[in-house]
Formats: sequence, C-alpha cells, structure tokens
Amino acid sequence: MPSKPTKAERAAEQAAALPLKDGAEPAAVGPSLLAWYDRHRRRLPWRAAPGEAADPYRVWLSEIMLQQTTVATVADYFQRFLARWPTVADLAAADLDAVLTEWAGLGYYARARNLHACARAVVETQGGRFPADEAALRALPGVGAYTAAAIAAIAFDRRAVVLDGNIERVTARLFAVETPLPEAKALLYALTDRITPAARAGDFAQAAMDLGAGVCTPRKPRCMLCPLVDLCAGRAVAERLPAKAPKKRKPTRRGAAFWIERPDGAVLLRRRPESGLLGGMMEAPSTDWREGPPPAGPADLAAELAAALADAPVRLDRAVEVGLVRHTFTHFHLELTVLRAQIGAEHEAADAPPDACRWVAPDRLDGVALPTVMRKVAERALGAFD
Ligand code: SF4
Repeated sequence: MPSKPTKAERAAEQAAALPLKDGAEPAAVGPSLLAWYDRHRRRLPWRAAPGEAADPYRVWLSEIMLQQTTVATVADYFQRFLARWPTVADLAAADLDAVLTEWAGLGYYARARNLHACARAVVETQGGRFPADEAALRALPGVGAYTAAAIAAIAFDRRAVVLDGNIERVTARLFAVETPLPEAKALLYALTDRITPAARAGDFAQAAMDLGAGVCTPRKPRCMLCPLVDLCAGRAVAERLPAKAPKKRKPTRRGAAFWIERPDGAVLLRRRPESGLLGGMMEAPSTDWREGPPPAGPADLAAELAAALADAPVRLDRAVEVGLVRHTFTHFHLELTVLRAQIGAEHEAADAPPDACRWVAPDRLDGVALPTVMRKVAERALGAFD
C-alpha cells in the first residue's frame, strides 16, 4: 500500500500547481531579483561587501539577533558584540553573565544563553569553525531550520531555502497564496524552493529580504519599482497577503516588584531561574505573575515576597507603592506594581543576601543583566526617589 504523503510532499504538490503571472517560469525570478540586488542591496554591518566572502561568525550572530527583532535595533548590539568579542572563540571564552548583560534590552533571552552555548559548541566540537552543512548547523544550540538555512546559504553559498517574514510576504504575493499563515508555511517553503536558484542562493535570500523590507512592504507595496512586477500573480491583492489567521487575545498577568534599598543605597537584585522566561537575567525581586485581579495591598504583597525570599535578611513591612509598569511579552501582557522598600540600618553591607540575590550599588546598575521590563521597574522606582 502506498504510504501517505507527508506534509512537505503535499505542500510541494500544491506549490507545483500554483502559477506565476501569465504562467511565467519560476526560474525567471532568480535572475531578475539578483540583478536588482546587485544595484540596490542594503548595506548592513554584518554583510560582506560585493565580491567578499561572508564571515560565518557575523552571519550567525546577526541571524540570532534578528530573530523577532528589527534591523535598526540589532545594528548597535551587533557592533557592540563584535567589538567586545571579535571571534567565536572570544565569545566562547566570555562569562555568560557578561553576554546576558550585553544582550539586555534585546529580549527573548533564551537566545543569549543559546548564543553562548553555541559559541562553546563550535569551539569544542567543530574546531572553532562553523560547519557549512545545514544538518550540522541545526545540531548547534539555538540554531533552528531557518537560521541553519540562512547560514548555509549566506556564509557558505550552499543552496538552501531561506524563509523569513519578509520572504514569506514576497512569495505569498508572487504566487497569490490565499491560505492564511501559519497554515501556509509549508506551502510557502515549497514555493520558495521553486524560485531559489542553484547558484547565489545566499544573495537570492538577502535580495528577497531586501525586497520585502523596502519594496514589497506590508502596506502600500511599491510595485512600480519592483523587479518582479511582470511575474507577480498577487499584485492586485497584495495588501491583504499574506493572509493571517486571527490573533488570539493576549491575557494580562499581574504581580509586584520590590525595589529594596539598603541604607548605603545598594539595591537587592535576584537572578531568575536559568530556564523559562527571562532565564538567568536579574530582576527586582517579584511575586509570581498571575492572571486575575490586581494584586493585594503592599502589606500582603510584602508578606508574599518575604515568604518567597525565605531566609531573606530583609524586612518589607514598610513597603510603599510607587507606581505601575506595563510590558508586553509574546504571549501575555504584564502589569507590575512597583513597591519601594527601604530597609533599616540593622542591615549592614556585610549581611549575606538571600539565595540567588545580591546587593548592587546604584552606580553599578548599568553593568547588570536587567531585561527591559526590569529597567522600567528601576526607572519607576528611581524616579519615585527623586
Ligand atoms: Fe510585491 Fe508588488 Fe513586487 Fe508583487 S509586484 S512582489 S506585490 S512589490
């Protein structure tokens, strides 16, 4: 009995039946797009100049940073990382805490931990060189299907099918794909496979990214400037493609964060558990973040936190509410009540902090791996002290 076709096989079959405008050949996309790229490519800090070989370390670093993050935001971080750790061996030898601190503000902190683990794996198992093969790249920490394809194509000029958000949009419009995302992903991959050329696959991917960023934009695509306009089956309906399934409503979680100051001005910060949201980053000690009604009053919150800090040598019975911080994560909104607690003179600098906590002098806060939400807490608390 013939086996059931896989999802990828079904998608490839469906892709083969979708025409470009006027039945144009998919092979026509590559040369048009590459010719356009040779004239209009973006200059980006991680890109090799025309004719130069790309550096796999730069390509990998930028691809990890660019996940869920804009080019404009990544540019500064990329330059700082490269200045501090110019090679993968330098990054592998770095302290994880230094990497997390440098990453602070970029979000999705699992990426930073994986970045460090991946650098170590490249040094320890690959002799300090990134592998060129997609399967070997995928075996590295934090390198998924997209990143492996991007590195193989851009850094090693291997033929690989690269599909990021910009390329999804271009492909969906070129073939007038009406199936909504995320259901359409396998089909878009199969269609991108059809138009990816055998040579210059890395330039092709970067060209499609540039086209999506500057010409085939989410709103008001500039079709008159597009090198693919004569091939594009979806031009007339471009603005509503790619179709997207309705987003689920994000729940709101609530909790309280305590800005606890010692008489000498030092602030108590706690390291979050290694796994999970904001793993390994520092925080103002917080209660659990839960869905439901707003938190109780300061006294109840202080009691909850004191219980969580267990053997904390801190008394929080004089905590004062100083404001609210809002932050949005991928899956939920967060509202944090910020409380200021100044602890008494009985707590000297010599006191051992509670488990996973440390006292940080105010002029050292910049050197701490505080995620954006906790920087907001610090700003709210410090503003309240002025
Ligand atoms: Fe996008 Fe318009 Fe070009 Fe089609 S013609 S790929 S919709 S910019």
